[in-house]
Amino acid sequence: MSLKKILKSTLNVNCIKIKNATFNENDQALYIDVDMTKGKKHHCPICGKKAPHYDSTTTRKKWRALDFGSCAVYLVADIHRVECDDHGVHTEMVPWAFHHTNFTKEFEQQVAYLAIHLNKTEVSKIMRINWKTVGSIITRVKNRIEPDSSVGFENMTRIGIDETSYRKGHKYVTVVTDHDTNQVVWVGDKTGTTVLNKFMEQMTDNQKDQITLVSADGARWIKSCVDANLPNAERCIDAFHVVSWAIEAMDKLRKSTWRIVHDDDKAQPKRRRGRPKKGEEVIRLATKIKGSKYALGKNPENLTISQRSCLDDIRKLYPRIFRGYQLKEGLRHVFHCSPEVVKQELDRWLSWACRCRRPEFVELNKKIRRHYDAIIATVKHNLSNARIEAMNNKIKVLIRNSYGFRNIQNMIDMIMIICSSLVNVITMPYATRKIHVSGLN
Ligand SMILES: [Zn+2]
Repeated sequence: MSLKKILKSTLNVNCIKIKNATFNENDQALYIDVDMTKGKKHHCPICGKKAPHYDSTTTRKKWRALDFGSCAVYLVADIHRVECDDHGVHTEMVPWAFHHTNFTKEFEQQVAYLAIHLNKTEVSKIMRINWKTVGSIITRVKNRIEPDSSVGFENMTRIGIDETSYRKGHKYVTVVTDHDTNQVVWVGDKTGTTVLNKFMEQMTDNQKDQITLVSADGARWIKSCVDANLPNAERCIDAFHVVSWAIEAMDKLRKSTWRIVHDDDKAQPKRRRGRPKKGEEVIRLATKIKGSKYALGKNPENLTISQRSCLDDIRKLYPRIFRGYQLKEGLRHVFHCSPEVVKQELDRWLSWACRCRRPEFVELNKKIRRHYDAIIATVKHNLSNARIEAMNNKIKVLIRNSYGFRNIQNMIDMIMIICSSLVNVITMPYATRKIHVSGLN
C-alpha cells in the first residue's frame, strides 16, 4: 500500500486526493496537501449547489484534523471562491470541513463530545486547542445539528418557565422546559418580560394555542407575559414556592418575637459573674427562639429528636410563633388535598390567615389571593415545577463542571445540547467504524 493510500484511509474522508505530505520539524506537525475530486469542486458552502467561479485565483487554507499519535495533523488545500445566486461570494465547500471553520468535521465532533463529558480546561488540554475555542466549537456544532431551535416547539402542550442563576451578582438565564418530554426547549439570556417575549415571538399562533398549562414561580413578569401571549394556558404555581413564602412569613414572625423577648431578657437584673450557684436558674428565653429556625421550617415528618423537643418548647412558651407554624403547615396541607376539596380548604386557610392578627400572615394572605387560581390549577392538574428545578440544578452543575463560560451564547448552546435530545446525537467520531483487534487484550 502506498503512503498516499495509507494517509487517505487514515483520514477517512471521501472524495479527497492526497497530493503530498510533509513533516514540519519546527512545530512537530504533519501537513497533508489535499485536493477535492472533480465532482466535489465549486459548490456553494451554504446550500451545496454547484456555483461558478468568482475569480481564478485560489487561497491556500489549512484545517486542523485529529492528531496522529503525538503529532498534530493539518490538511492543506488551495480553494477557489464561488459566487452563488442565492448566497453571494464565499470560499467553496470542502468535503472534510464545514464552512467558516479551521477544523475538520471529526475534530469538531470530538471536541463537542468531550465538552459534554469533561470540563472545558481538560478538553482544551486533550485536544491541544485554546480554551475559548472549545466554546465556539460547541456553538458551531449546535447550530449545525439544530439551526432552528423552534423545531422543539411542535406538539408542546405543558411547559415550565423558570429563571436560574449562572454567576454571582444576579446573572440569570430564563429556561423553558417541556413537561412531557422533560427537555429544555429554549434558553434566553437574562430575565424579564422582554426576554420571555422573544420566546413567544418564535412560536407560531397555532403553537401558542396548543399550550394548556404553564408552571412557574410567582414572578409577575411571567404571569403578565403568559396572560398576554398564551390564550388557552392555565397557570400553575409550584407548591415549593408557595410554602417557602409561608416559611418566610413565619421567620419574620419569629424574629420580631425574638426582639421582644430579648428586650425582656435584658430588663432582668444582671447576675454576678461566674458559675451559677446551686438552685439558681438562669432563664434566657430568647436563646430558645434563636435555635428554632430549622425546627420550624422543616416538614414535621423529617424532624430530628432534638428539633422535635425544640418545637415542643416553642408550642408551650410562644403560642404567637406556634400559630405561625400551624398556618405554614395548613398551607402545605392544601397542596396535599384532593382536587375536589382543594377550593374549600384554601378558602378556609385564607379566612384563618386573614383573622390571625399577625401582620406577616395577613400580608401573605393577600399574596396567596393573587395566586388563587394558579394554586387551585396546580392541585387539579398535579403539575409541579420540581422537574424544572431539577433541570436548573443540572444546568448549575454543567456550568460549574465547565469552569464557567466567557461567552453567554456558548453557554446557552451547551445547555441546549446537554438538556435536550441533542446530547444523543453528538457521538464520538468513528464510533461506528469497526476495527478488528486480534491478539490484544
Ligand atoms: Zn448557495
